[in-house]
Amino acid sequence: MIVEQFLVGEMANFTYLLADKGESMVIDPSWDLEKILNTLKKNNLTLKYIVNTHSHFDHVFGNDQLKAITNAKVAMHRNSPLDKDIELDEGNTLEVGELVIKILYTPGHSKDSISLLVNKMLFTGDLLFVGACGRTDLPGGNASELYDSLQRISSLDGDIIIYPGHNYGSKPYSTIDYEKKHSMVYKMKSKEEFVAFMNI
Ligand SMILES: [Zn+2]
Repeated sequence: MIVEQFLVGEMANFTYLLADKGESMVIDPSWDLEKILNTLKKNNLTLKYIVNTHSHFDHVFGNDQLKAITNAKVAMHRNSPLDKDIELDEGNTLEVGELVIKILYTPGHSKDSISLLVNKMLFTGDLLFVGACGRTDLPGGNASELYDSLQRISSLDGDIIIYPGHNYGSKPYSTIDYEKKHSMVYKMKSKEEFVAFMNI
């Protein structure tokens, strides 16, 4: 299995490459596609899926170019208004080699936000960052939904590694236990307190 984290663009976005048994999946391609293509080539990988954690431009604008080169299928949540080959929803799975990628519908930052659970790895997009969470003031954002999605994530195994959509924290990835202990996101005592904080 290969997991690569690429720090790309001027908004500190992360693109991910996940591979197993010659197959691969890219999460949130935008900038620096040649880095991804070089890694595919170097490891002799077929790109099976391009998956977007949500439809904001900084997570998707490499889709078309990468699809044109690799013929991979683009997969996003069914609420996404963008072009896609596969509509994802809660509980769906994708397979890459022997990896099974489980889709969790985790709205709040947007109406089409998903998280991807693969063994002990969770790709959270703009739901949860290291030490922070996604904003809710853009169209489709909802602090109450974000709270519920964050609570849901926090009930998963504590040793699961969090791979966020941006490099906004003190380190590029974390664990659920670490975030529950240290992130201000999990310091709020109630949904009301969280919503009030997000809506300042
Ligand atoms: Zn976003």
